[in-house]
Amino acid sequence: MSWYEFDENEPVECRCGWKGPPSVGIEIYKHCFAYECPECGRTLAVFSPPTIEETKKKAAEGNEKAKAELASALQRESFMDRATASELTSAEQLPDLEGDEIVIEWDFEDREDPNGDNWTVLRHESREIWREIAYYEGLERYSDVATILIEKYGDRLVGFPATPASRLYLYGDDIRNDPVRPLNERLARNRKER
Ligand SMILES: [Zn+2]
Repeated sequence: MSWYEFDENEPVECRCGWKGPPSVGIEIYKHCFAYECPECGRTLAVFSPPTIEETKKKAAEGNEKAKAELASALQRESFMDRATASELTSAEQLPDLEGDEIVIEWDFEDREDPNGDNWTVLRHESREIWREIAYYEGLERYSDVATILIEKYGDRLVGFPATPASRLYLYGDDIRNDPVRPLNERLARNRKER
């Protein structure tokens, strides 16, 4: 069953004996929505988040849930378009840098107006070398950018720290797998012996 066919007002019964509308126990995970029994925590139903096409289609068909979600889905779609277009995609977009021990900082700039975007800013010796739209919990993006930096600067890259200002947005609630520390430990081995 799809998210939009599911009637969350229709009472369901759990094996523990709890009965009620499933909407009281919804959990929104990164890759799914799940209804859980508020009494015993058993999963009652799991859905993949609807795609934007599905939301548009169902809203056009008059589905109330889809109509209610359409505005935020469209907002999300336009954000994703802007963010993807702003991404660093190739080593050629980065400047040539001098030196044998290059440290690039992953920094963060808050949106200036409330409807604007947040920015990830890459800095070398406090000079901005790249900026792109920041993703909340963008740890995967951090790793992708790291790969491009390594491609560009090779073993001259000795650090890619995330500044304190960037950390809240970068990690969000996702503190379980941290790519920043292991990557920086690995890059630190590129430092030349003295
Ligand atoms: Zn239960």
